[in-house]
Amino acid sequence: MLQPVDVGRRRTAGYEAPVGAAALEELGRLAAPLRDARVLHLNATPYGGGVAELLRSLVPLLCDLGLRAEWRIISGGPAFFEVTKRIHNALQGAALTLSASERETYLAQSAHNARLFDGDYDVVVVHDPQPAALLQLHGKGSAHWIWRCHIDTSEPNAAVWEFLRPFLTDYDAAVFTMPEFVPPAFPIARLAIVPPAIDPLSPKNLPLADALVHDLLSWIGIDPDYPLVTQVSRFDPWKDQPGVIAAYRIARQEVPRLQLALVGSMALDDPEGWEVYRQIREAAADDPLIHVFTNLTGVGNVEVNAFQRLSRVVIQKSIREGFGLTVSEALWKGTPVVAGRAGGIPLQMPEGTGGYLVASVEECAERLAGLLRAPEQARELGQRGREHVRQHFLLPRLLADELRLIAALAGAHPLAAQPWETTAAGQRCPECGMPVAAAPHTLTAVLRGVTYAFCSPDCRDGFLRGAARRP
Ligand code: UDP
Repeated sequence: MLQPVDVGRRRTAGYEAPVGAAALEELGRLAAPLRDARVLHLNATPYGGGVAELLRSLVPLLCDLGLRAEWRIISGGPAFFEVTKRIHNALQGAALTLSASERETYLAQSAHNARLFDGDYDVVVVHDPQPAALLQLHGKGSAHWIWRCHIDTSEPNAAVWEFLRPFLTDYDAAVFTMPEFVPPAFPIARLAIVPPAIDPLSPKNLPLADALVHDLLSWIGIDPDYPLVTQVSRFDPWKDQPGVIAAYRIARQEVPRLQLALVGSMALDDPEGWEVYRQIREAAADDPLIHVFTNLTGVGNVEVNAFQRLSRVVIQKSIREGFGLTVSEALWKGTPVVAGRAGGIPLQMPEGTGGYLVASVEECAERLAGLLRAPEQARELGQRGREHVRQHFLLPRLLADELRLIAALAGAHPLAAQPWETTAAGQRCPECGMPVAAAPHTLTAVLRGVTYAFCSPDCRDGFLRGAARRP
């Protein structure tokens, strides 16, 4: 049996205050035909990183909406997670190859996990590359399988992508955060573009009184009377903590006693964490105003919440990023963000909203110092960011997108009801105008809630890339 993660019970009713009654009614409507649908979410770690953060909130709410949702994790030792982290890095574009023995490690552990897979499901959602091979090694059964990719796979390392690609061909659908992330020659016919979201009621995001924020952070060594800037991220080379330290040191020349907190988590499936942590400790060793914290030394969700609230500016200086939940988390608290122009971050910070996108240490330092000098402008940017997050990146929207996809796959809202399919015989590809194959051979993509049908994978991918450039 694959290990289940216990998520307890949660109520969707609590979300009325942040998103309004109409959004909750919509959830009820979407979930009604899916009552008792058996949905499994499968990933590699129960803590640390964005996927665990999402599932912790999503799964109990699917249950509250009447589905029988479960969260399980695959098993693996250090050697397996070394390999899967290399696959992750390669899919984000790192120049590396997998040796024959690394491929064998991935396959052997995936086969072991496939043997542990039991239970009957209507829908299985597999997150990221770590468990991706399970479908082929286990077989589909009667379930619909979805591959949910959270990382930036727009320019994957060719050799590693060719290794992974055959394991994806049998999936019924794939979900990406942005159209640009769909890799070349992608083998799954049905695509949906769905950005993640944050849970406004989780301990990480719920309102905290100022006095509590001060007490929590004073206790761990932050001086609440002096300005603070923070980056919250896994200790991972793509998150560029050395660049954050460099930018902070430049900005500090203008802002005396400015403090920097680097809050980082270790994840079960991320063996690079300790090495990056060691490098950061070394870089910060002689600097009493740089504080380094981890989830293993008591900085949990509530403390992260407090850091994102007390900070005058939150930094997210990623070089590559899938989405970057930390950006929406900070903006939801009205805190402005200076962030790398990477992956899904610009979705969260359109021009003039939330803060500034940067492409270098110098730009990061300049924007940081600018916001610290102009607290009123910083406050306005943060407030606009909060409103943007309310409209686009709160959990009920993600739940609704997921329910729509499950319904489409499970046939509860047959795709035949979509306008393009009722006229499939005369339907034309929106990219090139050629006639579109009728179901079940139709290639589709769901973008901003609209389903499109295409004549070929090339047209579908071209259309999505074009759509990404259009406002
Ligand atoms: N996180 C945390 N403690 C830490 C570092 C990160 O709780 O010390 C959380 C962070 O608040 C966010 C998630 O881990 O919810 C990271 O998600 P994100 O999408 O930013 O990045 P990922 O780790 O998935 O690349």
